[in-house]
Amino acid sequence: MDTILVVNAGSSSVKFQVYSVEGEGRLQRQIRGQIDGIGSRPRLRASGANGDPLADRAYPIEAVSDVPAAMTIAGEWLRNELRIHPIAVGHRVVHGGPEHDRPVLIDHGVVARLERLVALAPLHQPHNLAPIRSILAGFPSLPQVACFDTAFHRTHGPLADHYAIPHQLHAEGVRRYGFHGLSYEYIAKTLPHIAPDIAKRRVIVAHLGSGASMCALKDGQSVESTMGFTALDGLPMGTRPGQLDPGVVLYLISERGMSASNVQNFLYRDCGLKGLSGVSNDMRELDASADPKAKLAVDYFIYRIGLNAGMLAAALQGLDAFVFTAGIGENSANIRARVVEQLGWLGGALDPIENSRNSRLISRSDSRIPVYVVPTDEELMIAQHTLSLLMNGQSTNPRQERVS
Ligand code: ADP
Repeated sequence: MDTILVVNAGSSSVKFQVYSVEGEGRLQRQIRGQIDGIGSRPRLRASGANGDPLADRAYPIEAVSDVPAAMTIAGEWLRNELRIHPIAVGHRVVHGGPEHDRPVLIDHGVVARLERLVALAPLHQPHNLAPIRSILAGFPSLPQVACFDTAFHRTHGPLADHYAIPHQLHAEGVRRYGFHGLSYEYIAKTLPHIAPDIAKRRVIVAHLGSGASMCALKDGQSVESTMGFTALDGLPMGTRPGQLDPGVVLYLISERGMSASNVQNFLYRDCGLKGLSGVSNDMRELDASADPKAKLAVDYFIYRIGLNAGMLAAALQGLDAFVFTAGIGENSANIRARVVEQLGWLGGALDPIENSRNSRLISRSDSRIPVYVVPTDEELMIAQHTLSLLMNGQSTNPRQERVS
């Protein structure tokens, strides 16, 4: 059986999935696993296609002290115990920089170019590249593909790509990239199957997970995003503030004496729903909490989604559909109902029964814009790109393929 391995490596976890390649290039998810607690309490957990448990084992901290060690353990487990020898590996890589508008087959030159982008995504890029480097060293002939969170947004025009700062900084790479691109790409390719007439029109997609952003799609292409240079901008998130006056950062430095790395930790880890509520970064806990600050955090989340919807509708010069996706968007009927209420002036009207069922279409039949819930699948997107690069030997334009 030919298989594709998909790897999504973060600072303390390596998530992986194995897909079998079926007839006509269809992909079937066979295994979903992760090693988390890297450097603290490492644990390998994995399940099969039907959710049946395949592994749940703890490791001593010194056995899995970093991402490459975790990749080695996961690889050995797949090879030695499950006899899985993938024909290619697809990686999620957060930053492709200005030049990568599609996935790319990896070689040493590509790795060197992606290394240069570490400064643009210091908390993610190094961890994304670590397993690529270790596989390149251990299995030099195994094809690897890098799939970028920024690539789907490279269709943005100059107005969406710039900040009002001197050109030299734009040339250096200080641009509004946008992220969650693999998720938006999946939705853009799935929409033609769900609502063919809508898919070509003006759509806002809200990716609401621990990281959250929104994307304006026109004819299936990204024209604007709430995220910019980094994944800090836009909507408030679990632990990131979203849109923030840069003057706040200056205040933290000049009045609080915070260093660059203190500010970085603060903005990525201590803000957002967690910082505002003082209760939790998890939407389920906030929903269940009676603390008024938890209510303020949830209200702020909804309010900012409404504001950003207005901004994206302006970029699109109108709105024909709205899509919810990711953990909160796919599962929280309550948050969806409150967001759709915010969209009333744009023509959104909720069907509460369909919404409580997590149906695909949750707007009333007389709603001016249809509102959908579409579960995202970034890993399938990566597996498809990887197979496609392997088959075609070159990268196809990700915006012209369709999800099967
Ligand atoms: P990520 O992949 O960015 O880690 P997810 O897309 O898995 O994040 O989303 C995680 C978020 O989804 C968490 O805030 C979690 O509380 C929220 N979530 C998941 N299920 C529900 C639910 N039933 N109701 C409310 N929030 C939910």
